[in-house]
Amino acid sequence: GELIIREGHYQYNVHDLVRKFGSSLEIFMPFVIEDRLNKLHDIFNSTIKRAGYKGKFFYHYPMKVNQNKEAVLPLVSEGAHLEVGSVNELSLVRKLWEGDAVHHNIRVLCNGPKTRSYVDLIFHMWEKQLRIVPIIEDLQELDVFKEFRGDIGIRINLETKVKSRWDKKADRFGLTAEELLGLGKIRNFKILHYHIGSQIELGEDIIRALKEAVSVYAKLRRIHPSLDTIDIGGGFAVPYEKKRLYNADAVVRRIVNTLKQLAEKAEVPHPHIIVEWGRYIVAPAQMSAFKIVSSKEVPKGLARRWYVIDG
Ligand SMILES: *Cc1c(COP(=O)(O)O)cnc(C)c1O
Repeated sequence: GELIIREGHYQYNVHDLVRKFGSSLEIFMPFVIEDRLNKLHDIFNSTIKRAGYKGKFFYHYPMKVNQNKEAVLPLVSEGAHLEVGSVNELSLVRKLWEGDAVHHNIRVLCNGPKTRSYVDLIFHMWEKQLRIVPIIEDLQELDVFKEFRGDIGIRINLETKVKSRWDKKADRFGLTAEELLGLGKIRNFKILHYHIGSQIELGEDIIRALKEAVSVYAKLRRIHPSLDTIDIGGGFAVPYEKKRLYNADAVVRRIVNTLKQLAEKAEVPHPHIIVEWGRYIVAPAQMSAFKIVSSKEVPKGLARRWYVIDG
């Protein structure tokens, strides 16, 4: 059959594209990610307005999801900030920055273990006027960034565990709540960050983790007055299978309302909100087309046919 992609007044027939460029073929649709990001901004901003919430919303694109310029450039031009997890990704940001390809008040969060070259590049980019924020993963890193003049974030390892695509038993990213609360005063501590996994199965789990994080945030806020942002990481699921998932409107409403209620109860200002939902924004924007080289019947399997493709 024929599958048509429509973009405004243009349309592309996938079969024609494959005839023209050959297979296997990856087709990337930047207008889809622009659309998804704009909608996400709209959902958060209108919910924040309706709820009378005082904090702001920021989207940070996790570059590990897709580092190609076809994905990164449309996102930053629509106002996305960035999140990187290694020196390799930060080197790509450096190229964009030096080539004037990104807007000037973009903010870049640096997660992941800080190797020597990663630390050096973070300091270098700070000197080059990029708004760069190292996210501290362990106590040694805290020491390394003592001299850092910009904002810093710290990653918390939550007790809340959720069903997701993530090896929970091995997760030792971040500091425990106890370690965090035992820290002395950190002058430029701005962001409390966590990431509980990818492809989180239940919307309720996003809220459970948030509740635990806010309770620690409120305690930390009394010690660190510079702390004003909570970063809930990635994990919003996309439908790879025919299965009903939660939707963004409902989850965003619950995130904003939960934050509002708990912050007011604890008598701290409403925090700014960062999300790093990666695949949620990018997954629907790409498709791969293959030619079937041969096929066989599967007598007793879950699928009816077995295909060998040219990928
Ligand atoms: C992988 C990752 C993300 C993105 O995860 P998605 O499941 O694509 O939303 C965001 N933040 C961090 C720290 C990550 O490691």
